[in-house]
Amino acid sequence: MIKRLFNNEIAFETILNTTLEAVITSDKKGDIVYINEATTKLFGYEKEELIGSSVKKLMPSYHSRQHDSHMSNYRETKDAKVIGKGRKVTAKKKNGDLFTCWLGLSELDVDGEHYFTAIMSDISELEKANQELESLNKSLEIQVARRTNELKGALKKANELNELKSKFLTLASHEFKTPLATILSSAILIKKYDEPVNLLNEKQQKHIHRIQNSVDLLTSILEEFINIEKIELNKIEKQYTTFTINEVIEEAVELIDVQKKEGQSIEVNYRTEPRPITSDAHLVLYILLNLLSNAVKYSKENQPIYIEYNESPTEINIAVIDNGIGIPEANQKHIFERFFRADNAKSQKGTGIGLHIAKKYAQLLGGDIHFQSRYNNGSHFNFILPITEK
Ligand code: ADP
Repeated sequence: MIKRLFNNEIAFETILNTTLEAVITSDKKGDIVYINEATTKLFGYEKEELIGSSVKKLMPSYHSRQHDSHMSNYRETKDAKVIGKGRKVTAKKKNGDLFTCWLGLSELDVDGEHYFTAIMSDISELEKANQELESLNKSLEIQVARRTNELKGALKKANELNELKSKFLTLASHEFKTPLATILSSAILIKKYDEPVNLLNEKQQKHIHRIQNSVDLLTSILEEFINIEKIELNKIEKQYTTFTINEVIEEAVELIDVQKKEGQSIEVNYRTEPRPITSDAHLVLYILLNLLSNAVKYSKENQPIYIEYNESPTEINIAVIDNGIGIPEANQKHIFERFFRADNAKSQKGTGIGLHIAKKYAQLLGGDIHFQSRYNNGSHFNFILPITEK
């Protein structure tokens, strides 16, 4: 009877028999009146075994009970929950195997008789892949959650360790100050007592000089630890005066002179005439010394360093520029963190504190420090300061 819908019966039959989906037509009682070839392949029945049988033969028993109630409900109310819509169902093969199908159901009238046509495609492989994907997703979620927890734990530990390190260093810095001062004054006294008679030979004098230098270095490192503590406890007291910045720049250049390597020069360029500013000259000097000593330390012999001074009506900008080792891109976002040192800086002595303090001081004075740098291609630090900070 469906064949009558088409003029060319052979073409129609070929289309239905070459589709990959099972096409099953049943009458209003639910008895099968037509199946295509894909149906026999999919369900494992011969054509003769299905024609005239109930469609329930192709369903698991719990579905076949549902089918009866759907059909009687549909006959009474004409309210089809499934007609014209696709849905996922479980189907049963001749050998009893169950598999998942996508079912599209439509109805049709031919010669006054009512029929239903089901088009079914096997989606069990798709379902399996879906389930595998879901379980993979779940196990991934579990792994991500576990890893996140591990990382959180490690971060907490690292933070605690950092705290401990910083507490220990501050405590040690306070405790070391007195004995260091004693060592330094003893070295000075040895030199002083020697002065009128000159009993110390050249080597002995050199060692005394070394003691003095090492104690100076150690004291300045300890001072930095103490400065960090002061910053964190908000204990920095700003001493405001009005001064011209070129005096401070010149003082910094002079003080850095001893650190310069062979052939290094520091060239200062005033792009505008400096006006007097009101700020804390001591903190400004500290910042400039840090920027300059880094420029010297992280540049090679004979590499020049430039200071460029610029002024706007509200702020000054002091740039410290070098052609040194630069800062690797990946390290740049951490450069102002406490104790952080870039990967390419480890061969030079340092603590990773100076820049952290310098930035905090600059911000305390209402300014800031920014930089641009390229690995192996120099660094450009900008120290910005308001002309008047209240
Ligand atoms: P450090 O005592 O290590 O020099 P700083 O706090 O002054 O500590 O600087 C932090 C880090 O920033 C340095 O270890 C270095 O990696 C990087 N750095 C700072 N200034 C420069 C510069 N001019 N050139 C290259 N690297 C720099």
